[in-house]
This record gives sequence, structure tokens and C-alpha cells, in this order.
Amino acid sequence: MFGDFMSCYVCGLDKSRLVEELPLLVRHYVCENCGEYYLEPGFRSYVETFLGRYGEGEKEKLFKEIEATVKRNKKVYFVTDFRHPLHNDIPDDFIFVEFDDIFSKLGYTFDDLSSGSDYGS
Ligand SMILES: [Zn+2]
Repeated sequence: MFGDFMSCYVCGLDKSRLVEELPLLVRHYVCENCGEYYLEPGFRSYVETFLGRYGEGEKEKLFKEIEATVKRNKKVYFVTDFRHPLHNDIPDDFIFVEFDDIFSKLGYTFDDLSSGSDYGS
């Protein structure tokens, strides 16, 4: 599975390689279309929570923004909480992006996502 082409989490094209899976299920991808990124499982669950709440109608908008973020920066570490990344040995040229950074660009606030759930006590 590692090294094979697979569909990119960000853009969906089959031009992405899963380079490695670090401990704690952090995945490292290189995509010919968007760039290079790491993905924490917590970031993926925020995406799922968002889609569960706002539905498929917002999916395209959300992934466009995520794709634009990777393309703009080329090297991105999608982190659950930038104060507590799961890995501290990520190369310096990667920028950390939280789900909130993406989400707020779409005009939502974090409270929209967390209200009515078990987050944030
Ligand atoms: Zn891609």
C-alpha cells in the first residue's frame, strides 16, 4: 500500500502517494496535483463532523479550500491542535493548519461545529 498511487484525500485524484504512516495514525501524502501534506486523524474527524452537520452541499467548498491551502503552501501539516501536534519532528518547512483555519474561511465559527456535542468542556 505504501508507495502506490491512490486517491488523494485532498483533491480526490489518483495522483497521490501515501508515503508513510507515522505512529498515531498520522499519514504523510505526496500528491502531484496539490502538494505534500501530513494528516492527523483528529483533523479527519473534524471534516467528518462538519460534513455530518452541513451535508454534502458544503463538501465541495470545504475540499476546495483545503486543496487551495495545500497548493498555496506546498507543504502542510493538518493538525488537530497546533499547540499539541501528535508529532514534533515534522520538517520546519511545513506549516501547521488547523481545521478551524479552513472552516473560518468558509464563514463558520468553531462554535458552530462544537455546539451540541461533547467538545470543549
Ligand atoms: Zn491532491
